[in-house]
Amino acid sequence: MKIYLLNPPYLPRFTRDMRWQDTGRGGTLYYPIWLAYATGMLEQAGCQAKLVDTAASGWDMPQVLIDIDLFRPDLIVVDTSFPSLNNDISIAETIKRDYPDTKTVMVGAPASQFAEKMLSSPGIDIVCRWEFDFVLRDLAEAIDEGESLQEVKGISYKEGPRTIHNPDREPSKSEDLDKIRFVSQVYKMHLNVKDYMLTYSYSMHPEVQIFTGRGCPFKCTFCSWPQTLMGRTHRTRSVSNVLDEFAWVENEFKEVKQIFVEDDTFTVSKKHVMEFCQGYKERGLRIPWGAQARVGLDYETMRAMKEANCMMVDIGYESGSDVILRNVKKGITVEQIRSFAKEAGKTGLSIHGNWIIGLPGETKETIEATKRLIKETKADAITVAVVTPFPGTELYEWAKENGYLITEDPNEYLDERGHQKSIISYPELSSEQIRETVDAILKSYYLSPSYVPIALRRVFNKNGLNELKVLWRSAKAFLKYIRGK
Ligand code: SF4
Repeated sequence: MKIYLLNPPYLPRFTRDMRWQDTGRGGTLYYPIWLAYATGMLEQAGCQAKLVDTAASGWDMPQVLIDIDLFRPDLIVVDTSFPSLNNDISIAETIKRDYPDTKTVMVGAPASQFAEKMLSSPGIDIVCRWEFDFVLRDLAEAIDEGESLQEVKGISYKEGPRTIHNPDREPSKSEDLDKIRFVSQVYKMHLNVKDYMLTYSYSMHPEVQIFTGRGCPFKCTFCSWPQTLMGRTHRTRSVSNVLDEFAWVENEFKEVKQIFVEDDTFTVSKKHVMEFCQGYKERGLRIPWGAQARVGLDYETMRAMKEANCMMVDIGYESGSDVILRNVKKGITVEQIRSFAKEAGKTGLSIHGNWIIGLPGETKETIEATKRLIKETKADAITVAVVTPFPGTELYEWAKENGYLITEDPNEYLDERGHQKSIISYPELSSEQIRETVDAILKSYYLSPSYVPIALRRVFNKNGLNELKVLWRSAKAFLKYIRGK
């Protein structure tokens, strides 16, 4: 069976797989990670798969249609995200008009929330909900063997005038994850790694993003992936399987300079992280890496990570107010953020700190507290997000019930340039003020003289030239953003 997997055209360099999906103020472009995992699984199941990422290639629809024509697939899979939902549905419709006999499938986080809407379009035959790589593989096998779709868990589909929603597929288990092809092998075969850009500090270009585990057990109300895609059950690949992928990248994918562990939270289990770091050293690996982590990580673990060549961790600090951290069930305190930042600084790990403006309870005073904490924690780089309540999250329900949502339509989440605009507005803090605050914080962080020592610290490290290149690319993208071009 031939399957065409499409990250469809939308705004230039739009990332569907980022937590806050947009075109990235600092020039970031993620891999189409989940689509790449699905590609690998379909190939393992004996399908001939083609992965096409138009965000990287810049292809428009006519180019995609020519490519589909050349490939002649039996199944076309279209990825989507909340802000690009209408665009992606209309792309599926365009494809279906040209290929009426080919089945079209939609995947992505909105599939768990909007299956009905997707199937009301004449362009979409089947929707794969939640952890869609496994669902897609089951679907391809069922179609290939001529089995009824009734048996495929996790899909919604049309049957005559009716829409059928099969029961959800159970989340994958740790042992299932060990059987999946390394996603870095899929990148090598289907994509050009130089097209992708992570603007974290100590991000060496080119870099690959991989998952070593899925799901997050924490309960942050705003966080979309555990509530719309991968679930809250945390499962991990075995340490040896992950180390095998690190070794494969180091030995067989020479142009890659760094690996980034893009799990929701890599550091859920101290034991797992320590075993990984020990194994990394025992195998004599050298490739630098970074990971998504969480406040609460202790000095001993961070030290072990640093000794195992971890360069940086990406941390969700979110707010400088304990009230807000409690309101969003973050499970950390301001004091813990302070002590984490201090301890991390001692280990030499670089920190990318993530903050959000506009969370429940936000006021002018809490914004000031966040600004002070940003200054105090002095991360090597920061991201400040405009709060975005994605459908399916507890935050979305809360904002809707309390009348704070300006719109329920996720297609309204971005401005015309593809950057976040606030769709939450409070009586004391308007959506415009939220957005202006984000811009003001970013400007005051990156354009102030106090960032000079931080930038110099980044440049005068052993990978200084690389840091300079990343800083330069990201500075250019950021200046373009604030100039409004
Ligand atoms: S810890 Fe991170 S990944 Fe997990 S729910 Fe909270 S924000 Fe999401």
